[in-house]
Formats: sequence, C-alpha cells, structure tokens
Amino acid sequence: MPLPVAHSMIGASVAAAVYPKTYGWWKLLCISAFLGVLPDFDYALNWLRVGRGGWHHGFTHSIVFALFVGAVTNLVTGWRSVRAFIAFSAATASHTLVDYLITESRGVSLWWPFTDHRYKLRGPNPIDYTWSTTSFWDAAVDVLQISLTELIIFGPVLLVVIVLRSMSSRKGKMLHGMDD
Ligand SMILES: [Zn+2]
Repeated sequence: MPLPVAHSMIGASVAAAVYPKTYGWWKLLCISAFLGVLPDFDYALNWLRVGRGGWHHGFTHSIVFALFVGAVTNLVTGWRSVRAFIAFSAATASHTLVDYLITESRGVSLWWPFTDHRYKLRGPNPIDYTWSTTSFWDAAVDVLQISLTELIIFGPVLLVVIVLRSMSSRKGKMLHGMDD
C-alpha cells in the first residue's frame, strides 16, 4: 500500500509528462501531486462511519472517478484545456493503477459504477509496507522509513521527467526564437 509520498510524486510525474512546461506549470504539478493522493481520502468516509463502511479502495479508486476529478479540476482551476483535463485525470488515475498493481487488499473498484467487482494484479512490490503495531513511536519510525524509501525511488523519476520537459521547452523556445 503506497503512502502519500509515492502517490503524490507519481501523480506529478504523470502530469509533467503529459503537460508541456508553460506559465503556471509548477502550480499544475502541485495540484497533480495532490490529485495523486486524493483517492485515499475515502479513508475519511470510514472514519466518519458513513453508511456501512468498507469505502477504502471503492469508488474513488475507479477510472470514472479519475475522469470526473479531471473534469472538475479543469473547471475549478484556470487551465480548461483538453490536455489539462488529461493531465489531471491521469494524475488521479495513476493512484488507482498503482494500487491495482500492488495492493494486498481485496482489490480496487476499477470499473465502478459499471461493476462493484474489485480488481488487483498482485504484482511484485518493491517496498515492504509492513510496519510495527507494538507502539505509536515504533509505527511512526517505520512509516517514516517507508516514506523515505518512496522518496529515494520516486523522487528521481519525477526529477528526470521535469528535466526532460524543461529541456524540450527550452528547445521549443529556441526554435520559436529563430522564427521571429
Ligand atoms: Zn489508494
């Protein structure tokens, strides 16, 4: 079960890959990082004891929800373009797909609302997500360690995408400059 560090970095990486570097790009990446974590807010529904519970990995972990979030974010923020819609939707969907790939739960509701069936691939998990349950502090140290491992794995991925994007936008600007 990836933690917010991995999900936010993957969300931002996906958006950076989809959306060319233009004015406000960093803001778009920050929003996408948040969208990468958003599906896990279904925990709140469990904590608030909404309905019969069991919300986690439910409707918020579906492709339809990702498209919905992409559309709403497009409307609420100033981007309003097909590419921004794709970037926001893909950032949200990245969360669902990562969970689908490695979750050890009964799976995610990938195709909600068409079916409530839970899907999972049980792919190889690069990180050991077990943490101590003996005390709060032991658990906190374990979670911190896992978060650092995620940072070491997914930080460079985000960095590479950002560098590649920056290079291609500089090249574009140079070509554009030659046109003028
Ligand atoms: Zn999740």
